[in-house]
Amino acid sequence: MIVLKTATEIDILRANGAILASVLNRVCEEVSVGQNTGELDRLAERLIRESGSEAAFRGMYGFPATICTSINEEIVHGIPSLKRQLKKGDILSIDIGLYRSGMYVDMATTVPVGEVDEKAAKLMQVTKEALWRGIGMVNIGNRLADVSHAIGSCIEDAGLYVVREYTGHGIGRDLHEDPQILNYGESGQGPRLQIGMVLALEPMAKTVPGTVEVLADSWTVVTDQGALAAHFEHTVALTKNGVEVLTRGGV
Ligand code: MG
Repeated sequence: MIVLKTATEIDILRANGAILASVLNRVCEEVSVGQNTGELDRLAERLIRESGSEAAFRGMYGFPATICTSINEEIVHGIPSLKRQLKKGDILSIDIGLYRSGMYVDMATTVPVGEVDEKAAKLMQVTKEALWRGIGMVNIGNRLADVSHAIGSCIEDAGLYVVREYTGHGIGRDLHEDPQILNYGESGQGPRLQIGMVLALEPMAKTVPGTVEVLADSWTVVTDQGALAAHFEHTVALTKNGVEVLTRGGV
């Protein structure tokens, strides 16, 4: 069941989104060659606590950290480590969630570590563009699959591949709510979008086809053929004024 949010709840979500975007911005400023992902996690945890919020991911289904840090062929759910140093040319996906005043917000970005090659740069640019194409379809009266189609066609038209095993989701009093939002599909299907819907859109794309595997840590999801992967996410609300990106200001 899709839970519609009240204007008051969207006010809370907007405030939470602004906090989360500023935290992610600060974390991204610390991404550099030689930095380790454990330090990024510590910073995120500190900033979230200082804002009077809680880290949404820590402890969720048993996840052991505040952010997910996924490097290169890692797609999502990578575990930060003080022993994992970033190298020049890596791409780093950071996924982060926050809980405050009873409401969750969720966002992700992928950033380069130093200079990256053309293939990696294109993957990041296209995945981000796919997110914004999806956001552009969040209009009153559109159907959910119009969003999915906009995301998927952007990725596929660029000669890249959608990671089909993971999806976006509704969000609010729970981190993961209905509806599930596929990152591919034919438009014109699914529920109609209505005022009060709050959605976390999160395309993941990769450079070659294939499927995914989960590493022995039982969290880190990787591409099965070593393809590079990128991930971008925003939490958005549909209000009477149209779509509003609640986590805007993030990278
Ligand atoms: Mg999410």
